[in-house]
Parts: sequence; C-alpha cells; structure tokens
Amino acid sequence: MSSIMSTFDEAARLQTLFSLGMLDTEPEAEFDELVQLASTICETPISLVTLVDEQRQWFKATMGLSVRETRREVSFCAHAILRPELFVVEDASKDARFAQNPLVTGDPSIRFYAGMPLQTPNGHPMGTLCVIDTIPRQLSPNQTAALLVLANQVKVRMELRLQRRALEDALQAKERFAAELQTSDQRFRLFMDHSPFVSYMKDEDGRFVFYNRRFAERFGIAMQEWIGKCGEDLFPPAIADVFRANDNAILASRQGREVTEHSLEHGQVYIWRSHKFPFMERDGRQMVAGVSVDITGDVAREEELKLFQSELESANSLLRDLAVTDALTGLSNRRAFEERFAIEFSQSARRHRPLTLVVMDIDNFKQVNDSYGHGAGDAVLRKVAQVLRETTRLPDMAARYGGEEFIVILPDTDVPQAMLWADRLHAALARADWPYRSITMSMGVAGLDEEIREMGQLVARADEALYESKRAGKSRATIWMPAVTR
Ligand code: GH3
Ligand code: MG
Ligand code: MG
Repeated sequence: MSSIMSTFDEAARLQTLFSLGMLDTEPEAEFDELVQLASTICETPISLVTLVDEQRQWFKATMGLSVRETRREVSFCAHAILRPELFVVEDASKDARFAQNPLVTGDPSIRFYAGMPLQTPNGHPMGTLCVIDTIPRQLSPNQTAALLVLANQVKVRMELRLQRRALEDALQAKERFAAELQTSDQRFRLFMDHSPFVSYMKDEDGRFVFYNRRFAERFGIAMQEWIGKCGEDLFPPAIADVFRANDNAILASRQGREVTEHSLEHGQVYIWRSHKFPFMERDGRQMVAGVSVDITGDVAREEELKLFQSELESANSLLRDLAVTDALTGLSNRRAFEERFAIEFSQSARRHRPLTLVVMDIDNFKQVNDSYGHGAGDAVLRKVAQVLRETTRLPDMAARYGGEEFIVILPDTDVPQAMLWADRLHAALARADWPYRSITMSMGVAGLDEEIREMGQLVARADEALYESKRAGKSRATIWMPAVTR
C-alpha cells in the first residue's frame, strides 16, 4: 500500500477526485452506456468505471456486478492507476500480486483484468475503465484499441464535469461577490446619507460622481442632478477656479489637505472648510473626495468678535488716556502722578535709592490772564508743558498738579542732581519762545530721606520749599530744610 501511495501526490489526487463530485452519485446513462459497450466489444461479463477513493474503490458504472464498491487493498484498479497505460492481468490466479486476493479466491472469481487509467488534465488518475472476466484470456488488438477509445470517452465526460464544476463555482463566487458589493454599496450610501457632513466625490476631470443626501439638501438639488457636472457648470469662474486648483493640487501631490473654499447660493457667498483627499478607483481612475463644513457663520461671528474687540480696545485706551492725561497740556494729570509716585516711592524706599520731587508754580500768572485773557493763559500753560517735556527724560515724570502748578518726579536722582536739573529748567524757560510775554517759575525741591514714613510727607516738604521760593522773591528753586520752616 505504502509503495502505491508514494508514486504520486495522493493528497492532490484526492482533492481532484472530490472536486469531480462523482463519488456516491446515482448511476448515469452516459457512463452506463460506455461500460455496456466495453463489455460488448471486449466480450467480458464484467465492465466498470471505477473511482479510487482514499480507502475504497467506488463504481460509477457497473456491468455484471451487483456491488457498488470494494476495499482499496483488494482493488485491481489501485494497481492500474499507478501507470498511465493499460494494465492487464491475464490470469490473476497465476499472478503473485493477486493469487491470494479474495476477489480471485472468492466471488466474483476474477481471472482476467484489463484496466485503462482515467487521467484528468492535471495528470491525476481518478480510477479506470476496466473489463473483467472469470476465465483467463487476452484482448485482441482491436478490442484493446476500442477499450482505449472508450476510456477516452469516460475521461472526456469527467473533464467536462470538472470544467462545469469549476464554472459553477466561479459563477457562485461571482454572485456572492455581486451580492456583497450591492450590500456594501447600500451600506456605504446609508452611511453617507446619514452623515451630518456634506460629502462628495469627483473624477479627475472635476465632474461629480457622487454626493450624499446632506450635499443635495444643502444645495437644494435632486440626488442625481449634479452628477456628471463640474464646478464650471455650476458656479462663477472665481469660485470654480479655486475648486479646480485645489483638486488638481491634491491629484498631483496624491495627498489630502484642508482647504477653505467658497460657494455662491442665491447671491449669498458661503465659506467652507473642506478636507479633500485623493483615491484610486478599482479601474485605476484618480478621484478626489471631499468632506466639507459650512463655516460662514463661524467666520462672521469671529469677524464680529474681532471688530468688537478692537473697538473695545480703542475705547479702553481712550478712557485710559483720558483718565491719566491732562486735556489742556497733554501732560500726565494729578491722578497719574499719584499712581506713579506711589510706585516710585515704595521702590526707592525699599531699595534705598534716591528720589526727588520738584513742585513748581508759575510766577505772577494771574497777570497773564488779566492782561491777555484766559486763552492766552492756556497757551502759556501749554508752552510750559512743552518745556517740561523737553527737559525731562524717560524715567522722570512731569505732571500738571494744579491750575498753574506742576510737579516732576526724578527717580534715582538725589537733591544736588535735582538742583542741576532745576537750573536747566530755569535756563530753558528763559530761552523759550513765549507767545505773550516771558514767564518764570518758582520751585520747591525735596528728597527722600530716612525720616519720611509716607509719600504725602515728601510732597508737603516740596510744597513748603516752593512757598519759601515765592517768599524769597520767586524764579528760583529752594531745597527743603528743617530750618527753613521752623
Ligand atoms: P504767584 O507768583 O504768587 O503764584 O502769583 P500768581 O499770579 O501765579 O498767583 P496764583 O498762583 O495764586 O494764581 C493762579 C492763577 O492761575 C489763578 C487762576 O486764574 C489761574 N489759573 C489756574 N488755572 C488756570 C487755567 O487752567 N487756565 C488759565 N488761563 N488760568 C488758570
Ligand atoms: Mg498758584
Ligand atoms: Mg502762580
């Protein structure tokens, strides 16, 4: 048995046998007729179409035998299929391979056997067409030739059967595939139509090949209405050109991207944020798909918000300026001075850095108003402010402290340095080009020292020093000293 098996690929042979689908089927006239013809021509009582199964041989057609199968071990055909040519045993009782075979020693007492293997086109023997006699004998050359012709007929019918089976299988697979395709197509459409996003596909010429229900609803069109149309058919050039440029860029780069596009509906421009990406159809055609969200509302809200914010900012900065700036002179006002002075005072005290205040008052200002009018007085105040701006540097701060009183904070400046600055201011006032008549100012100078506990004290000292300047004859600067006031 093992030597029989090893001569060919038994597993592959059995595979072909099963796919033939003939094992254990009903008798069929086309095979029955051929075994009858074989028996008639070869003049044998028995003729068979056998199929050699894994453990048995089974008869598709029988003539002169009532059994439908025998065990494979005792099978003559199992020997016959080992070689592709006709296998003949003239007297089995005298053949060492078969003398003890129960089919020889017992019923049906085989003596003569001639079997032609039935090979499929892929080279696997399925079984045989064989003729059997209970007496020893030989076949004439004509009988042999006829048997081969008949075996060929059996073989052809088997081949047809194999082809038909293959065809049926292919057809079934195709139907299954078509059904799957249909359900997957339906599933895809359901998915797309329930999607809240506007979705679509276009071919490489920019023509719509698909859009979902949301898309149709959004543009108020029927489900097929825009199929086959492109942007140029549907929108003005300014809009369609952007579609095409984006689609072409995506096709060229073979990469998806986020783009902002516009559409025009009933004279209204809409803004879309779209994710577009390329893909290839089964037939190799390049496509562009897109999923888009209408962001018109968002953009409008954003722009409104931006506008509101910028208005708010400019209103705020105006308010801020109004709050800290003196309207007549453009200098910092008294409130700004107080804020700034609080900061400078605490920082200088903490760091033990010098800080000096200069308070000043225009001399005989009432006369300007009286001689030239209030407007002239205002012009003089503006001029004083200009001189102060030109005389102070960035860390310094000049403010309008009262009607015609001014105050200057000089951070990191001790009293002697402040006096030098006061001299410069006197000189600048003397040089200035006054609109009506030249004016002078009196100043009081006070520096931060260890005795001072709160900022009001320093302002009070500067005021006292200013008073002393006025008393001493105006147009001068006086340093606060304890002796001065006591
Ligand atoms: P003194 O040298 O003693 O300071 O003499 P003065 O004339 O300057 O006297 P005082 O400082 O008391 O006078 C302030 C005057 O400044 C009173 C007021 O009419 C005038 N004045 C105050 N604010 C303004 C203003 O905004 N514009 C104008 N034109 N005049 C103002
Ligand atoms: Mg005054
Ligand atoms: Mg004055």
